[in-house]
Amino acid sequence: MRAYKDKLKETGALIEIKHSVSSRYEAASIGLKYKDKPVFFHAVDGIHRVIMNAVCSREVLADLLGTTPYNIAPYLAGLPESGEGGEVRIIEDSGTKEEIEEPDLSKLPILRYFNGDGGAYITGGVVVAELDGIRNASIHRMLVLDNKRLAVRLVPPRHLYKMHREAMERGEDLKVGIAIGVAPLILLAAATRVPPGREFEYASVLMNKPVELFRLDNGVAVPHAEIVIEGYISRDRAKEGPFMDITGTYDKIREEPVIKLTRVYHRSNPIYHAIVPSGAEHRLLMGVPYEPLIYRAVERVARVRNVVLTEGGCCYLHAVVQIEKEVEGEAKNAIIAAFAAHPSLKLVVVVDSDVNIFKPEEVEYAIATRVRWSEDVVTIPGVRGSSLDPSSKNGVTTKVGIDATRG
Ligand code: MN
Repeated sequence: MRAYKDKLKETGALIEIKHSVSSRYEAASIGLKYKDKPVFFHAVDGIHRVIMNAVCSREVLADLLGTTPYNIAPYLAGLPESGEGGEVRIIEDSGTKEEIEEPDLSKLPILRYFNGDGGAYITGGVVVAELDGIRNASIHRMLVLDNKRLAVRLVPPRHLYKMHREAMERGEDLKVGIAIGVAPLILLAAATRVPPGREFEYASVLMNKPVELFRLDNGVAVPHAEIVIEGYISRDRAKEGPFMDITGTYDKIREEPVIKLTRVYHRSNPIYHAIVPSGAEHRLLMGVPYEPLIYRAVERVARVRNVVLTEGGCCYLHAVVQIEKEVEGEAKNAIIAAFAAHPSLKLVVVVDSDVNIFKPEEVEYAIATRVRWSEDVVTIPGVRGSSLDPSSKNGVTTKVGIDATRG
C-alpha cells in the first residue's frame, strides 16, 4: 500500500491532511467529502497514518489493471477467474514483520464511521483462512469488541462462512490472518468470487506478476501488508451491528462469530487502510467484480458489448447491459442471464450498442423511446435479492428487467 500511496502522491492525486483529526467520525467525514479522491491522513488521533479512498474511481482501477475506465467489464471477463496462469510464492520474510507485538487493538486507528454504527469497524482487512489445503481470502467488516476480540460478519453461504462452519463441526478453531494495507489489486481479488482458494492466483493474473505470501506463526500465509492481525475465528458469538452498509442505510444487528487475536505484525509507522462504508471505494470493490460475471453469463445468450453496475444503484443493485441484438427476444434472455449471474441484482436494463451505458440520460432516453411497457418488461416477484436492500422483506424482493433495445 505504501508504494501505491507514493505513486498517488507523485501524480498529484493524493489529498494530504496534515493536522490531527479524530478517529471518531471526523476522519470518516473528511473521507466522504473527498469521495472520489484518495486521502492520506498524517495524524489520526495525533499519531497514526491512515489512507482512505485508495481505489476510489473507475479511472484509478482501470489504470491499475492496464485498461480503460469504460472497458473494465470486458477486460476482466477475458481473464481466467480460476487464476490459471497466476503464480503464488511462499517466501520467508516480509517487511510486515518489522514489528511483532501482543494484540492490542487500541494501538490501531480503527475508525468509527457513522454515529448509528455499533462501534469502531475494520473495513479494509483481507481475511485469509486455510482449511484442508484451501486458502481463502475475502473482505469482511469487523466490529471491535475489546482490545483482543472482533466480531466478524460472515455472510452465508460464502466461502469463509462455510469454512468456519466446517471447522466448528470438527471442533476446531479457524486460524486467520487479517491483512490491512495490501496492494490494491489484492483487495479487488479478495472481493471477487473466484473458485475456492484461488484469490491469490487471480490476484497474480490481475497484477501480471507473482503474488508473494509469508507465513504467520499460526501457519496462515498472508500477503505483504502494512498491518497483519493474527488470530482465530472461535465458536463464540457476539452482537454485530448496526452498520452503515453499501446502500447508505443501516444493516441490522446479528449474532456473528468472534475472532480472538493472538498477535499483531506491522511495518514501522504503518499506514492503516480504511474503506469508508457506502463510499466510492466500498461500492467499486463490491460491485465491479460482478460486472465480468454478468458479462460472461450474457455472452452465452447474446453478443454482449459491455456491462455496468450503476452508481445510482449503489454499484450493486442495478445493471445496464449493452448488447448487439441479432434476433428478437435476445434481450429477455440477457435479462435472465444477468439475474442468474448476480443474485443481488434488482433491476437490469438491456440497451443497444449505440447507447453509452455510463450516461444515465442515454439509458433513460433508450427507455423513453424504445420500450413498449406492455411487452418489454420482465417481473419476477418473490425472489431472493440483496439483504442490503432496505426495501426487501428479509432479502425477498421483486426483480425487474427492462428490454430497452429497438424493436
Ligand atoms: Mn473464496
